[in-house]
Amino acid sequence: MQYPPGCAFLDGAFCAIEDAKISVLDWGFLRSDATYDVVHVWKGRFFRLDRHLDRFFASVDKLRMACPYDRDEVAAILAECVRRADLEDAYVEMIMTRGVSPTFSRDPRDAINRFIAFVIPFGWILRPEERDAGLSVAIAETQRISPLSVDPTVKNYHWLDLVRGMFEAYERGARTVVLPDGAGNITEGPGFNLFVVKDGRVATPDSGVLHGITRLSALDLLAEAGIEAVARPVSLAETRAADELFATSTAGGIMPVTSLDGAKVGDGRPGPITSKLIEAYWAAHTRPDWTVAVKDIPAPRSMA
Ligand SMILES: *Cc1c(COP(=O)(O)O)cnc(C)c1O
Repeated sequence: MQYPPGCAFLDGAFCAIEDAKISVLDWGFLRSDATYDVVHVWKGRFFRLDRHLDRFFASVDKLRMACPYDRDEVAAILAECVRRADLEDAYVEMIMTRGVSPTFSRDPRDAINRFIAFVIPFGWILRPEERDAGLSVAIAETQRISPLSVDPTVKNYHWLDLVRGMFEAYERGARTVVLPDGAGNITEGPGFNLFVVKDGRVATPDSGVLHGITRLSALDLLAEAGIEAVARPVSLAETRAADELFATSTAGGIMPVTSLDGAKVGDGRPGPITSKLIEAYWAAHTRPDWTVAVKDIPAPRSMA
């Protein structure tokens, strides 16, 4: 198997991506007992790294794990992985798994938590050359896991609902999927949030979803442009009646959704608010308040 260029950090040391392997006994693998975050580097600069670190450490706390590294150490490890992978545009993932219990106890408190990071080339849900065509989305029958069961604000690997939804979408000829909740509202898709635009006003679901950093950037940039954009429940009916739809993710940024359940969204082309937002989003990748150069983050102390 051919691996992309990349670098990982595992059990306290840097290694090539193809050598980054964990025990089958790790509860991250056996029970999806893990949290993670993905930040990207664009033209040598991390985008909103502070926000990603805030979310990652909040998730680690909510899962009652302990990260062996503090914020600055995690930032240093991530930056060092990017430098070693020698990538200008990169997909940067940090993970905490519950780890392995040294005594094979079934009590999660006995496990030794494991921190992993890796860097691979930047990946797109929708590539820039596909933006005009946009995404075709199906709304699944499968419901998103209830927030009463798994906290969706903790970025997690409980993806069986999302993967089941993806197969529903493929069977219906759509490229990807958005899952409903049990109350007639939309939630999110596999790794992205969804926004609806109607009469110049923008909304995105407020609950039952990950609070995406790209979602936050979209809300910030729309507010700066004087466009009303709010987080509130968004019904299936208003999603079907939207003038524009777009998805947001670190893996691709702002992505026009041009077809929903086989019907055109608007005129079937990316709408004006979506197009304006895509431009503002990529322009924001040099903002000093939102980005930091990889080279300006010091190397981690005393690490192999
Ligand atoms: C990562 C993810 C998103 C998007 O979050 P970003 O921080 O914008 O990348 C949305 N929903 C789910 C379920 C995710 O895992």
